Amino acid sequence: MSKIVFFCIPAHGHINPTLGVVEELVSRGHQVWYYSYNVMREKIEKAGATFVSCDDCNIDQKLNVKDSTRVGKDMFFSTKLLVDTTLALDDKVCKEMAELKPDCIVADSMALWGKAVALKLGIPFVSSTTTFAFNRHSAKIMKQGLGNLLKMIFAMIKTSKQVKKLKDKGYPVKNILDIIGNDNDIHTIVYTSPEFQPCSKTFSKKFVFVGPSIRPATEKIEKKSDKLIYISMGTVNNDMMSFYKTCISALANTDYQVIMSVGNLVPIDEFGVLPENVSVFAHVDQIAVLQQADVFVSHCGMNSVSESLYFGVPLVMLPQTPEQCGVANQVFQLGVGIKPDKSDASSILYAINKIFANSKYKQNAIELSKGFNRCSGAKGAADKIIQVCESTV
Ligand code: UDP
Repeated sequence: MSKIVFFCIPAHGHINPTLGVVEELVSRGHQVWYYSYNVMREKIEKAGATFVSCDDCNIDQKLNVKDSTRVGKDMFFSTKLLVDTTLALDDKVCKEMAELKPDCIVADSMALWGKAVALKLGIPFVSSTTTFAFNRHSAKIMKQGLGNLLKMIFAMIKTSKQVKKLKDKGYPVKNILDIIGNDNDIHTIVYTSPEFQPCSKTFSKKFVFVGPSIRPATEKIEKKSDKLIYISMGTVNNDMMSFYKTCISALANTDYQVIMSVGNLVPIDEFGVLPENVSVFAHVDQIAVLQQADVFVSHCGMNSVSESLYFGVPLVMLPQTPEQCGVANQVFQLGVGIKPDKSDASSILYAINKIFANSKYKQNAIELSKGFNRCSGAKGAADKIIQVCESTV
């Protein structure tokens, strides 16, 4: 029986894929501790891990769900917040890991305190990545261009003071990329398929692509017409009333059935009387809708895109952040989605019609779905962790 410790930021999109892995490890008789924040306690304990709260660490700006969703989207904000959290957790985590002597630490790529303590104490380590793995080859495909590179360099200069503080605490790091980058020498679990990951062959054998983790649907959606269009801009930056109104005017009185999820920030009664073929909700069971949908008009969050492709649904893409642009570029490269030049009504309708006019989009989406289904999933991730515990890789 092995002792395994997980670390993760309090973001559902980062924690959810690991829960099946925890369940799998526990069912095999291993002991799992999970360091995260109180808002995540219930789901972590339900998976069978011993929850350890990081809420009480001594830090002014404590990690919360809102900040965690911003992490990875704003480089300087992320590095400062994550280094500060690492320093604040240092005493507690180092002391507890020295006592517990785990066989392996598994940390989300953003929970750098997990990787830092593993490096410092020489504990076997597995990184866990819920977005695409990132190296210089995949960066090119994802078109993380000069602007982002400059932002990263700027963040590195601004965070050099923070990095020095980490060094002073005994962490063997040269710069922030040592901590947040994906490194070919580090065992890494990536929650996507090798076919969807840009340049998957450029990552070492230490990387395992286990596929997305798709939760089961909890309801059944009734399909009322031949073609169903689903629209959602995710759960974070979804306060986009004028965009939703544009979609309604684009699709009103067409033969398409339209389901739109608009989040909690938009008052649904402000839409007035809706066209008969359009339904608007604050939140839907997205898995249930995608099981029936024919096109997904999406902001290209990694989870939404993975769920869409899992059910073989092509996308019309309106990314809002650099991270979402990276995902959209890969969807475009693989021929499973269209990025309209503009977000006006006629461009959106044109993109939807174009997807139906060319069957390659659907066929390519089905191929990617087969690739996701070939992945080893939570079992493969658990195998990797146990191999690292037993140091057989
Ligand atoms: N989601 C949902 N119902 C909705 C809108 C979103 O269940 O009405 C879920 C969706 O299935 C996905 C997540 O919320 O798992 C959104 O994550 P994503 O990474 O796509 O975008 P974010 O919200 O982080 O921008």
